[in-house]
Amino acid sequence: MKKEEYTDVQKADLKNFTKDELSDYLGSLGLASYRADQVFQWLYQKGAASFEEMTNLSKDLRAQLSEIATIKKAVEYNRQESKDGTIKFLFQLDDLNSYKVEAVLIPDFFDDGEANRLTVCVSSQVGCMFGCSFCATGKMGYFRNLTHGEIVDQVQAINELCEERFGKKITNIVYMGMGEPLHNYKAVVESARIISDPLSLELSPRRITISTVGLTKQIKKLADEDLGTKLAISLHAANDEKRNTIMPINESLNLEKLEEAVKIYFKKTEQPVTYEYLLFDEFNDTPDDARKLAKIARWVPSKVNIIMYNNVSGVTLKRAREERLDLFMRELISHNVTATVRQSRGDDIDAGCGQLAIREGSERGKSMAG
Ligand code: SF4
Repeated sequence: MKKEEYTDVQKADLKNFTKDELSDYLGSLGLASYRADQVFQWLYQKGAASFEEMTNLSKDLRAQLSEIATIKKAVEYNRQESKDGTIKFLFQLDDLNSYKVEAVLIPDFFDDGEANRLTVCVSSQVGCMFGCSFCATGKMGYFRNLTHGEIVDQVQAINELCEERFGKKITNIVYMGMGEPLHNYKAVVESARIISDPLSLELSPRRITISTVGLTKQIKKLADEDLGTKLAISLHAANDEKRNTIMPINESLNLEKLEEAVKIYFKKTEQPVTYEYLLFDEFNDTPDDARKLAKIARWVPSKVNIIMYNNVSGVTLKRAREERLDLFMRELISHNVTATVRQSRGDDIDAGCGQLAIREGSERGKSMAG
């Protein structure tokens, strides 16, 4: 290990602190509380990567902070643009293993070409341990959780691009990139708090959606956070038998347990939930599946997103055919379910639902350099 790397390990990483912890830390150095706000703003609004950039702090203070603390930052490493406007980013994390994660910008445009919704799909973990059979990330295995700072870094970098290219800030965030967000609970919740903070990006929590495969304990805990974000459940099958075959988590946390957690969540937050349902050909796309899904959709007020899957190489499940989608939707609507069909975007750059994974060579999730 090189000397400067060893030294950095000893320094406090300011982006590993929550807002309160940052305030306590700087307070312990004898700094007034407004200084903590200034540093927070530099980190999360202006994206500072060094203390040198913090020009409203005195030169002495900047030098003092550089001695004892560090600022880790995930930086853009690569970018791919789809013909449909979707942009996939590869971020290099600041660690000794050279881990990388992907995030996706999904822009929607008005007829006159002006940007409407600018949705960012962020990653919360390097890889994932839940092994859903349709998901490229699951095939990578799990490497580590992201810090809340690394989650915000993805959003901040993409927000800068949106301001430059579209003249407006991002409008929505979905935690649906690599990893299971509620398996990295603390960092995900803190990152959502930071993203909605007035001294950061000030995005309304209502425009932030946290998704989960159904970690019931964490769903119940989330209900007590008073976070104001939206909850999406990655359902993808409407009975235990089918769900067990594509989502191993269902074997221990089945639909009955999920129902209990979702009902508690709704009782406490009074917020409807969204069910994400990838439609797979001749697997979960029959009218009977639709009737079972309609029953789940009635657990609490909800809406259902039917997502047309982009096929992933090595996965036997395939995108459902249009005629089967049609019958499925008719059945859902006849049961008064609020349902929308979403085309998974960015298929030509492997940016769609279930397609994110770090691939060969220098783009591997864990480089051999570590
Ligand atoms: S779908 Fe989500 S939880 Fe399942 S393997 Fe992929 S990233 Fe993990």
